[in-house]
Amino acid sequence: MSDAQHRRKTRRVRVGSTAIGGDAEIAVQSMCATKTRDIDATVAQTDQLHRAGADIVRIAIDNEKEVEALREIRRQTEANLSVDLQENYRLADKVAGIVDKIRYNPGHLHHIEREKSIAEKVEWLASVARDHGCAIRVGVNCGSVAPDFLERYPDQQLEALVQSAVHHCRLLEDLDFDQFVVSLKDSDPDKVITANRRFAAVAPEVPLHLGVTEAGLPPQGITKTRVAFEKLLAEGIGETLRVSLTLPNERKHEEVEVGHAIIDDVRNGRFISVPDLDGLNIISCPSCSRVENEAFVNLAQDVRTMTEYASQHDITIAVMGCRVNGPGETDDADLGLWCGPSTVVLKRKAERVGAFGYDVVLDKLRDELDALIRQRAA
Ligand code: SF4
Repeated sequence: MSDAQHRRKTRRVRVGSTAIGGDAEIAVQSMCATKTRDIDATVAQTDQLHRAGADIVRIAIDNEKEVEALREIRRQTEANLSVDLQENYRLADKVAGIVDKIRYNPGHLHHIEREKSIAEKVEWLASVARDHGCAIRVGVNCGSVAPDFLERYPDQQLEALVQSAVHHCRLLEDLDFDQFVVSLKDSDPDKVITANRRFAAVAPEVPLHLGVTEAGLPPQGITKTRVAFEKLLAEGIGETLRVSLTLPNERKHEEVEVGHAIIDDVRNGRFISVPDLDGLNIISCPSCSRVENEAFVNLAQDVRTMTEYASQHDITIAVMGCRVNGPGETDDADLGLWCGPSTVVLKRKAERVGAFGYDVVLDKLRDELDALIRQRAA
């Protein structure tokens, strides 16, 4: 039986030579972790992901120089490309003619051009996408929900997330633009399941892009992802997906292989028993073009090895690859590390402990972990 036969029927969204939703097979995506301005490395990684079976490859851009690099990357690869506008939605008109899909985060639209309403910004994005035959992904994350929705739904982060996504769907549909998909992501698989179920119940016609952010290193990162994807896919929810794993660049294509394996297992009724996710929880980002020190991936692996002795404790440690999103994305973890070019910042929840060299930060983390275990025992 093909994927399409047991899935709900959403509208079909064309993305370059492939499609998401409708009667299309589930599309597997991945994202480049190379520096976008390093054209050779990014083309090589795009092709590496494409060869592994990625239907769409996402590349992040922050500025005009990266737009220029993207133009050349487009010229050198046949992969369907999606672009992540990150905090700068104004770059959309410069890239829509180059790529097949643009992703914007409703939680980042208020950062620039504060005099304009969100509806005006969405109208502009839709017109740019329409003019270039480009699809859109509305990508909401628990870590960056739009402030007005957090105010509207105090202490209900998931509801704020879902309603923010629904609101953007309605804005786009009111503009007669329907070539969009939605993602609702978090690092907690249970939240991903709940958010996607709620959204699918309200907007069953909209294709969903599944993802568990910052799932971390394999094999635990794969397990977290499977917990969410197996449940949702078995319910017929999910028209495209990305597995986010912390991996060195030469192994990045494993994200794609894992994505295909999960789809194949669900299709054939092979499910892992739902694992006990209590105990030590290490989350780490999949890395992207913003990583400034490649020691990040090794650090994430070393954190996992060093903390094995604490596996029975319900403690979350977050390891993030950059100084742009790292500070915010570590706030909710019991202990957090985010990586700068030459130092790593260590945190207790939102409180900064200090910045330490890559060679000593593990010892500092161990001191903090021991103190936290002692404090909880007392
Ligand atoms: S935390 Fe930074 S390096 Fe990691 S994926 Fe997010 S933006 Fe990229």
